[in-house]
Amino acid sequence: MLFEQKVNLGVGAAYRTSEGKPWVLPVVRAAEKALANDDTLNKEYLPVLGMEAFSNAATRMLLVRTAQLLFKAESGHVLAFGVQTLSGTGALRVGAEFLARILGKTVFYYSNPTWENHKLVFKNGQFLEAENTVIGRQDPRFRPRGVPRGSQKCPEGAVIILHACAHNPTGCDPTEDQWKQIAEVIREKKLFPFFDSAYQGFASGDLIRDASAVRYFVQEGFELFCAQSFAKNFGLYNERTGNLTVVSNNRAGCCSKVTDYSDHQRNVFKPSEPWRKDRPRMCDNIRTMSSRIIEMRTKLREALENLQTPGDWSHITKQIGMFSYTGLNEIQSLNMVKKHHVYMLRSGRISMCGLTPSNVDYVAKAIYETVTT
Ligand code: PMP
Repeated sequence: MLFEQKVNLGVGAAYRTSEGKPWVLPVVRAAEKALANDDTLNKEYLPVLGMEAFSNAATRMLLVRTAQLLFKAESGHVLAFGVQTLSGTGALRVGAEFLARILGKTVFYYSNPTWENHKLVFKNGQFLEAENTVIGRQDPRFRPRGVPRGSQKCPEGAVIILHACAHNPTGCDPTEDQWKQIAEVIREKKLFPFFDSAYQGFASGDLIRDASAVRYFVQEGFELFCAQSFAKNFGLYNERTGNLTVVSNNRAGCCSKVTDYSDHQRNVFKPSEPWRKDRPRMCDNIRTMSSRIIEMRTKLREALENLQTPGDWSHITKQIGMFSYTGLNEIQSLNMVKKHHVYMLRSGRISMCGLTPSNVDYVAKAIYETVTT
């Protein structure tokens, strides 16, 4: 029997409009039309590292002004560039395999919990696993605890996966101070930071703000990789559009090893090159998505508080990005699915994209009934 009020807040959820429909960004539609009408384009093979214009733009979108810093630092030589990849997952895989095979890395650290595919992707990329002791377990109120003492256990030279923003699955990002502490530990233990940026702009509505942790590490002189996904911020879920940004602080470092494997030496940044003039439209489209999600967070918290649902629900609006840890335990989450047809993970994680003005009150009521019975 079809349950009319069922709500899907589970896995695989892409952005949905207030009407619960998939959304093609107007800026993407316009670009597709322009491409379809451009008879000068062809389907020739690309260089080994992919389409340079694309990976340059992606790298610039991540690093913004720090790109100029890198450019100036080496008198004309740029120590950062992009590699076109199959979405964010492809960037993680290519980066992991390079670090394992070419640089001989064997151990990677990850936050607990983390995006469920991190372990699989890195292990298939020839890594051994290790739990993250740099950013500790989230505490019961879903605030990152900063840097626990256990971080001293990290072996020197290991790789550490860091969520650039909108930590998946908790929605809890380190504060600026906590990022500084994390950077200190990483420097002290000579770890290799591998950022995963799957939500740039999608989290706060501001492309620059959502990449501030990555830029902080670049400014501090770290070598790093950053996997970029354009699934969420450009709505290109099925196109598998991604980039691996490589930042080196040393011409003989990892950068030169990557370029050994390419068919040309890249100088990607042209610091004087302005952003394309369609960027404001792109930012408008991103803000449309992020503000709808932020509004749903506010509405869900309000509805829970109006019902006087036992507990503190402030974490719903403190968290950021696509996912939220509700705080429901496994039994309660299963009750939400079985009794109320609100589909969500056993861990209590929900995708905010599935919430709409017409189902948020129903979901709040289901949570209320679940925690009070
Ligand atoms: N990293 C994180 C943290 C993610 O949440 C996702 C997508 N859910 C990805 C990477 C990979 O995304 P994709 O391969 O679809 O670009």
